[in-house]
Amino acid sequence: MADPDPLAGTSPLTRSLHARVPHDGALPVVTPLYQASAFQTGSPYFYTRKDNPNIAEFEGIVAGLEGCRHGIAVTTGMTAIHQVLDLLRAGDGLVFNRDIYGCSHRLFQRFAEARGVRVSALDLSVPEQLARIPAGTRLVIFETPTNPFLKTIDIAAVAKAARAADPRALVVVDNTWATPLFQNPLAHGADLVVHSATKYFGGHSDVMGGIICCDRDDLHGQLRDARFYAGAILDPHSAWLLCRSMKTFGLRMREHERVTARLAAFLGTIPQVARVHLPTIDGHQLRGYGGILFFALAPAVAGRYRDFAAALRLFDTGTGMACVTSMVAQPYNGSHASMTPDEKSAIGLDQGLVRLCFGFEDPADLEADLARAFTAIASAAASASG
Ligand code: PLP
Repeated sequence: MADPDPLAGTSPLTRSLHARVPHDGALPVVTPLYQASAFQTGSPYFYTRKDNPNIAEFEGIVAGLEGCRHGIAVTTGMTAIHQVLDLLRAGDGLVFNRDIYGCSHRLFQRFAEARGVRVSALDLSVPEQLARIPAGTRLVIFETPTNPFLKTIDIAAVAKAARAADPRALVVVDNTWATPLFQNPLAHGADLVVHSATKYFGGHSDVMGGIICCDRDDLHGQLRDARFYAGAILDPHSAWLLCRSMKTFGLRMREHERVTARLAAFLGTIPQVARVHLPTIDGHQLRGYGGILFFALAPAVAGRYRDFAAALRLFDTGTGMACVTSMVAQPYNGSHASMTPDEKSAIGLDQGLVRLCFGFEDPADLEADLARAFTAIASAAASASG
């Protein structure tokens, strides 16, 4: 009889903390770094372009949290998305949600043009638009909550509509922002989940990675083969760092959630803030939420993002996010810079939209810092108009 599972009945988070690949008898309590390109005959690993203990451990942790059997770890989040697109063939249809990370948006267009794939951008957060998924669609890809604006897309409804349009359609959710702690797309009918591990999984702005998760053996086989021949696998050191970060993943997400709730309430009291964008936590598809929100600057200060960011002392600027320190960004010129002005205007994205990612500073300090920056732009606007 097989040994009983010592973790039987524990939560996915508990299991993720105890996930360890088999070791060589030295009994370390954490898995050491296997900085090796090749393994001897008889090893289950063969060659690191194919597999490696640190990479396998990271895949097991994330797949466990996503509630599925397979994880395929790759170099970055964009690689994960590209590997999934690579399942398409000339003439296939690709549908993506138009509110999506700017580089994904551009990648879909570039890929479709180069490979002869038919591409459509829809607003999948609007139920009436689901009927517009064209016949012949082989892949539907989206983020929920969306980037920007954090709108909800009903994964089960998209899966139903996509399969009605074409029974072979694959539904792919980029779950980077929701994370598997708060949302498990496969349980709602998605076929594949992609993540930028560079964000919350890494959590410290010091590692890049990506991962694709699925339950289907055929997709797993195809994606692993494609990764092997493309040389797109994550490197062992990054995998080791990611495994280390995953030990505090639950803690960090809960703290992100706590700080965001407090700061969102604070932003709601600020006259220079026209609107705070947060996702709807319905407890069914989305069970909680982490550390990224958007707000719209009020019309009187809408053109003052640069002054606002410059006045902040605790928020770093730049493209990073989901780390231990807070960040401020302007999606128009940052995450969505690769979209044209017309494309940005079509989704309602203008220069007055600000993204904040809260780290683990004392929330009272973050409030004081933001208050100072709002006062600075309010006085600058008052002196300009008076
Ligand atoms: N998906 C989402 C939702 C992202 O925000 C990003 C990057 O910001 C990516 C994918 C791309 O990930 P990476 O930068 O790891 O390639």
